[in-house]
Amino acid sequence: MQFNNGSLESYNIVTKAGLKQSNFLTWAGIRSAIPGHLKFLNDNSRKTGSLEFCCGEKVFDPVLCKSKQFYELLITKKGIVSRGFTKLKNDFDLDDITVSKVFLNLLSDSSETFIRSFQLKLLDDIVFTNKRLAKLGHILHDACTFCKEETETIYHLF
Ligand SMILES: [Zn+2]
Repeated sequence: MQFNNGSLESYNIVTKAGLKQSNFLTWAGIRSAIPGHLKFLNDNSRKTGSLEFCCGEKVFDPVLCKSKQFYELLITKKGIVSRGFTKLKNDFDLDDITVSKVFLNLLSDSSETFIRSFQLKLLDDIVFTNKRLAKLGHILHDACTFCKEETETIYHLF
């Protein structure tokens, strides 16, 4: 995609290299849609004269690839697990598949939207307990609201 060159210069290079059925606006739009972490992959276009580039072990040729393959390339870095996923896995010594099932069961366990939302907040570890509120400086003490003896965490409450 010639990201070390400007849009016009790169468009001129790729049209000379064989890009057809495209125009400058389409080319510039595609270039701007590519996420930053994918912009500086191994680019073979200068060596081979083709538009192929590598991402990991996969080789992409923009002329031959289908939109599904471009989509898969764009979402490669999107499938990162949440902080709650990692915390649940470590706290209960579970494997990835088991924790994934917990998150997937969220949809079938309850039909109430509010309950689903709260379960997701619990799993993602984003419930504002007194411990978290005290850490943020919103309240002074992190003691439990009910017993006032221990620190209020998710594990203490549930
Ligand atoms: Zn308590």
